[in-house]
Amino acid sequence: MPPPGKKANAVDAEVREKIHLEILKRTGAYRTGDHFLLPSGHHAPEYIDKVLVTTEPSFTEGLGAVVAKHFAAWPVDVVLSTGLGALILAHCVARAHPSRPILAYATKGVTGPRRLVTLPEEFHKVIDQGTKVLIVEDLITTGETLRLLIRLVERRGGQVTGIGCLWQRNSLRVDLGRPIFSLVSRDFPTYDPGDCPLCRQGLPLNREFARAEPAEEEARGGVKPGRRRPLPRA
Ligand SMILES: [Zn+2]
Repeated sequence: MPPPGKKANAVDAEVREKIHLEILKRTGAYRTGDHFLLPSGHHAPEYIDKVLVTTEPSFTEGLGAVVAKHFAAWPVDVVLSTGLGALILAHCVARAHPSRPILAYATKGVTGPRRLVTLPEEFHKVIDQGTKVLIVEDLITTGETLRLLIRLVERRGGQVTGIGCLWQRNSLRVDLGRPIFSLVSRDFPTYDPGDCPLCRQGLPLNREFARAEPAEEEARGGVKPGRRRPLPRA
């Protein structure tokens, strides 16, 4: 048994992350050891598919319970989310949290180049002065959607207790000024097609995910804004 303390915690965290990655592999959401064409046009040896991360209900429930356990000591009135996959996870987090919070969601949209999130009027009374809100996201990328959600909560007088998510790309070092708990914190390299070591090795290009909705991180990670396709309206 390793001695208790910081080192043991770090080892635990590493083991836990491996388990979570393995779960995401089982759903088919996390793929590795290939040569993917990303929706952004970049090439990469790994891919995480936002759509597939919540397809196995028992896995999603298990992962949601881990997030809920992390935030169990904080009172939470509302679990707030946006986006289909994130909402499924948010349901599982809310179900497992000891405060028995309400589940609410914001809708996503795009106006010209700007993203926006809107709280349906029916939810206005559940988030107001002093409401403690836990935000749940599936993949944290640039954190742009999260910033919008935090602003939405605070404008209504609520407080964001924390942010729970499945996957965070750690190299982007998103600082939202709130505690973030992520089941996986992982980054993988992406390459310009003209400078791709996988191409140089002659590996065939897997185009399976090329037309997926671009994840925010790929769209923003070094690709010029002009190449970014607008997201469909929520
Ligand atoms: Zn390549």
